[in-house]
Amino acid sequence: MIKTPAYAAAVAKAPLVPLFIERREPGPHDLLIDILYCGVCHSDIHQVRDEWFTGIYPMVPGHEIVGRITKVGDKVTRFKVGDLAGVGCFVDSCRECPECKAGLEQYCQGGLNLTYNSREKDAKTPTYGGYSTRIVVDEQYALHVSPKLPLQGVAPLLCAGITTYSPLRHWKVGKGHTVGVMGLGGLGHMAVKFAAAFGAEVTVFSTSPSKQADATRLGAHHFALTSKPEAMKSMSNRFDFIIDTVSAPHKFEPYLDTLKTDGVMICVGVPTEPMSVPAFSIIPRRRSVAGSMIGGIAETQEMLDYCAAHNIASDVEVIPIQQVNEAYERVIKSQVKYRFVIDLASLKRS
Ligand code: NAP
Ligand code: ZN
Ligand code: ZN
Repeated sequence: MIKTPAYAAAVAKAPLVPLFIERREPGPHDLLIDILYCGVCHSDIHQVRDEWFTGIYPMVPGHEIVGRITKVGDKVTRFKVGDLAGVGCFVDSCRECPECKAGLEQYCQGGLNLTYNSREKDAKTPTYGGYSTRIVVDEQYALHVSPKLPLQGVAPLLCAGITTYSPLRHWKVGKGHTVGVMGLGGLGHMAVKFAAAFGAEVTVFSTSPSKQADATRLGAHHFALTSKPEAMKSMSNRFDFIIDTVSAPHKFEPYLDTLKTDGVMICVGVPTEPMSVPAFSIIPRRRSVAGSMIGGIAETQEMLDYCAAHNIASDVEVIPIQQVNEAYERVIKSQVKYRFVIDLASLKRS
């Protein structure tokens, strides 16, 4: 076993503190990755605080991982020592169900092995995420990372990037479409960048007046402050798609009312309470409310390659791991611009 420094929550809702974990020795198909950067996703906070389902503790969060390979198993063919590699939200899947065979591993029916707060293939060993200095992963679940972009800006692509890229591609969003993005945080700012890059006209719905100038810089064409009902009303019947990235409970109606006939509201945010969809917000215009979760391995690679080719990365604030608890508080207050990324050199030094 490989003794590895990490930051973990000992029990639900506890602050993150240093802890040694053990990684398995790399098997024939495994990569050992020295982690350089790991993004802080709001899902980390939901899970550390047990806001979705009963968590597995101690919990080492982190599923936006970029690092360099230091060892490969003797059957590894797609990577070599010294390569950059990324790991996203899952580290294995059943590999046999129709979804896995179709490259939609994120919807695996046989049980997805999440990067943390989950179990390894043996169904016993807990998985631990990227708030640590090393990770061991099967090469089929690792991504190639181009050295062209700043690595700290690439890390958030492994979750925030693919979670917004995948539905935009699925619904073929592009030129001629109008898109609303709800919430300008980690996911929201990537949704703006991708939707604008694909040629859509983008409007940001935000609760934060201070983010208006950034919305424009990120590629949005319009900005609507959701605290102003008149701003919302003036947008009725305007959007083909809305991507809802909001992390807290909120009302659907004011946003659904801005969708055109056949418009689709795509939910990617996971608020901590169920929310209701009033029938009269959807039936009069044949609107749909849909969901989407991260993306498969092949599509994640496609997204990373697209970002390298089009110079797209996340806007980040790099922090030492010792500041992660304060960073969580700032994420909850919607103060991050637009993703905290942990520099794991801070953990190696300590
Ligand atoms: P984040 O950085 O905290 O962004 C969320 C944004 O939502 C905030 O910046 C804020 O934007 C807005 N917001 C927060 N509280 C609000 C409220 N009470 N009412 C209205 N707007 C509010 O979070 P994130 O990392 O982007 O994640 C967003 C959500 O997606 C989380 O629930 C996360 O768990 C989920 N997620 C889902 C997937 C998936 O596969 N579907 C993947 C990753 C994350 P403004 O300041 O602009 O209002
Ligand atoms: Zn995430
Ligand atoms: Zn499967």
